[in-house]
Amino acid sequence: MDFSLTEEQTRWRAIAREFAEQVIKPDVLRRDRLPTAAERIPWDWIRQTDEMGLRTLGVSKAFGGAGLDILTMCIIGEELAVGDLGFAVIMDQCWKMAHILGEAMTPEQQRRFIPPFVDDPAATLAIAISEPGAGSDHQGYYDAPDIDFRTTAVRDGDSYVINGTKCYISNGCMAKLYFVVARTDPSRSLREGGSVFIVPSDTPGFRAGFFHEKCSQRLATNGTFHFENCRVPATNLLVGEGQFARVRGEFMPGSKAEAAATVLGVGRAAYEYALQYAKQRVQGGKPIVQQQAVAMMLAQMAMRLDAARTQIWKAAWLADRKHPEARVLGLLAKVNASEAAFEACKLASEVLGGAAIMYDHPVEKYLRDAASFLHSDGTNQVALLRAAQALSSQTSASLYGF
Ligand SMILES: Cc1cc2nc3c(=O)[nH]c(=O)nc-3n(C[C@H](O)[C@H](O)[C@H](O)COP(=O)(O)OP(=O)(O)OC[C@H]3O[C@@H](n4cnc5c(N)ncnc54)[C@H](O)[C@@H]3O)c2cc1C
Repeated sequence: MDFSLTEEQTRWRAIAREFAEQVIKPDVLRRDRLPTAAERIPWDWIRQTDEMGLRTLGVSKAFGGAGLDILTMCIIGEELAVGDLGFAVIMDQCWKMAHILGEAMTPEQQRRFIPPFVDDPAATLAIAISEPGAGSDHQGYYDAPDIDFRTTAVRDGDSYVINGTKCYISNGCMAKLYFVVARTDPSRSLREGGSVFIVPSDTPGFRAGFFHEKCSQRLATNGTFHFENCRVPATNLLVGEGQFARVRGEFMPGSKAEAAATVLGVGRAAYEYALQYAKQRVQGGKPIVQQQAVAMMLAQMAMRLDAARTQIWKAAWLADRKHPEARVLGLLAKVNASEAAFEACKLASEVLGGAAIMYDHPVEKYLRDAASFLHSDGTNQVALLRAAQALSSQTSASLYGF
């Protein structure tokens, strides 16, 4: 078993790490405290990372991207999130759609939609599933026709007409291109009657609503927006009617591992800050890092974060190979990493003592940021229920046939 990174992975990690250290960290606390979501959007960083190839690294080389695999995206996502989780999420929403762009789209759709995304240095992508009445209920655990999922797409000649409202959407109201889930057959469950449509933000009938104000991932937007008789060509349907579950399962194979990698970055940032602080802060006659109680907290953080990273990389490695158990391990890795990161932030706040809640230090921000992934990308409870559902159908008690 070889845990060493490839030359390419090492190179991308160094690029992302340098950007996080040199560009993000020196200014992120100021930006985090700006009062409105609109003024916090880091358009300048998006453009800068575009020049470095980060924004489009999930796009195939044929269309001008870097064509990176999921494992490498996880490595890069962690590094950016050490700088800022919100910014890493803006990028990751673009990367999560890599397999949709590369494998789910028809060649005709690729020609229409990929170049405008690649050529615009500030363009981002979003996937719009959640609605006011359907959060966990679109995750596929409770999958019955009666869920309160209201967005519909009705076929009308050569078009579909979309109506409905989406909320909480990452990159919502700022993205250029949306993958929108709508019911094409409301009498059926979302798995059977849900479809995915490609909707550019300038489509008539697409109406931006507002950015949610929030205490976490403050540089990323979560938007509410509306479809009001929004007409898209039938050729904007992705894969086929009733194929939502397939799109999410087959063409977003790394989404949970990538989410896990970004929240892991926050835990790492908290650990690294707490370690430095503990080396300098003297109480009880010596640096507190030499006080056993503090040293044990630091070791505990390192233990949990390293275990989470190993699991994420394994989940990503399986996803890159389209292994049938990648989905379950992805769910478990997201739950584990978000809990490990949240725990690391809590312990970091204890290492800093009173300083932890002061705006002079970034730990209060790390704590706020880590909290988001206990429920973002599906709540941890529902993720565990979905994993349990899949595991219970296996004959072996352990994963990967061991
Ligand atoms: C930062 C952030 C970014 C997001 N980005 C996106 C995005 O880009 N696109 C998108 O479509 N959505 C996005 N979402 C929405 C996200 O998918 C939902 O928030 C998530 O699925 C949970 O739904 P909910 O918030 O409505 O919680 P609810 O579903 O209301 O859950 C509330 C509680 O009930 C529990 N619960 C719910 N159902 C069950 C059940 N059947 N059995 C047991 N317990 C249950 C949950 O575990 C939780 O504890 C984002 C959310 C956040 C916070």
